[in-house]
Formats: sequence, C-alpha cells, structure tokens
Amino acid sequence: MLLIVDLDGVVYRGSVPVAGVAEVLRRRAALGDTIVYVTNNSSRHRGDYLTTLAAMDLPVAEERIVTAGRATALRLADGTGPRPRAVMVVGGPGLRRELRDRGFRVVAPTRHGLAARPEAVVVGIDRRLSYGRLAIAARAIREGARFVATNRDPVFPAPEGLLPGAGAVVAALEVAGGRAPEVIGKPEPGLFESAARLAGVAPSSAVVIGDGLSTDIAAAHRIGARSILMLTGVTTPADLDVAPPERHPTAVAADAVELAALLERFAAEPA
Ligand SMILES: [Mg+2]
Repeated sequence: MLLIVDLDGVVYRGSVPVAGVAEVLRRRAALGDTIVYVTNNSSRHRGDYLTTLAAMDLPVAEERIVTAGRATALRLADGTGPRPRAVMVVGGPGLRRELRDRGFRVVAPTRHGLAARPEAVVVGIDRRLSYGRLAIAARAIREGARFVATNRDPVFPAPEGLLPGAGAVVAALEVAGGRAPEVIGKPEPGLFESAARLAGVAPSSAVVIGDGLSTDIAAAHRIGARSILMLTGVTTPADLDVAPPERHPTAVAADAVELAALLERFAAEPA
C-alpha cells in the first residue's frame, strides 16, 4: 500500500512531533507499505526535510520526500510539453536546487534584465521578492514563458501570525503577466501524482493521510485515492460537518492509535 503522508499537522506541528505517528509509520513500513512524504512548501530542499524526519525517527529516504518544488521540477522534466532549457525562479533556494537537480539551467535577473531568456517561470514563496524581480518575471510570462506555480496557498502560519504564501506571489504575477499559471501543489493533483509515480503505483491506489480538507483531502479526491483526515492539525470536527462532499475524507483519525487501526482496515480492503 502506498501511503502519501502530509507533513505539517500530521507528522509534526511546527517542530513538535505528533505523538505516536512515527511509530505507526515505522510499523507500516515494516509490513511492506511504501511511504512518501509530501508538502506544499517549496522553499526547502528535500534534503532539509530528510534531516528533520530522520531526527524524529520516521522511516524515510530522500527519494521519498516530495515537496511542491520537487514535484514542479519533475513535471517540467517528465510532463507533457517541451522541456524548458532556461528557467527563472521566483522562489526560495530549495526550489532553485530542486530544479538544478533535474538538470535545469536556472537563470538569474541582472540589473539589465535576465541573464538569459527563460522558457519557464517557476513561482514559489519568495522571501526576497522585489519589485524588480516581479517586473522581470511578469515580462517573461507576457512574452510567452511557461508559467508554473508550486502552489496557491494564500498564507502560511508563522510564529508572528499568518504570512503571505506562494499564492500571494502567484496572484501578483498572474495579474501582471496577464495569464493563469499551471499549479502543481494541493489541491491540484500534481504533487500526489508525482508521489505515486516515484513509488511506481497508480495514484488511485494510494492512501492519503492529511490534516487539511481544502488541500490534502481535496487533492485525494482529484486522484481518486482513499484518504484519512487527521484531527491533529488545522481541521476541527466542526469544519468537517460543514465541508462539501468533494472535501470529505474516507475516514477520520483523532490520533495515531486511530490512524493505525484505519490503516489495518484499509490494507485488508484494497482500493
Ligand atoms: Mg498539513
């Protein structure tokens, strides 16, 4: 069984592990399940997550971590459409590294514009966003570069409160570039499709474990997979009561004990 496991709100909250989840996943791995960890975040490289997850004693390998940044690089490399030679990144260092890992040339803006003409503009959260970079990226989009967004998350939680997410940067470029982007991350199916492709199984045979109705569970529906909503993150039982059918999980787990029981049940009734 392929388990597509969301990170924040399922495996940990902030820097604190969710009690019992590492043990459940170790047991599932020992029983033969494949576990792929996913996150809509694109600012960190998968190697950074490897360190965090290994320290929490989770069963993990770098190849089994798919950030929205990595899924975006995989899509550009293996998806339909011509492979871009030069890519401009409006995003963080992790996203640039994921693209370079797949052999893309990442071109940088200079005072005089771009160092080379990009065939794609890839957008994630960019904490060093400037008006100048926004202007250069928007021009490239208007001139025909492929426009790819890692995700459209409007905000993300930080110790100081909600901060603008990748979606805020994408929205600025959509308006200035005059065109909507392809979006890879949740609730779009691209991130989970990448995870399933890496595991070598059909997306619809996966089990998605996540804490977000409008992200994890919505994307699970898009790939036709079963899903388990964990109540250890952003969703409350009251949220679930008012959610539309396309955001209803197959099952709900309040904690790691309930998660373990559900996974046993799912394993006994294959999709
Ligand atoms: Mg989450």
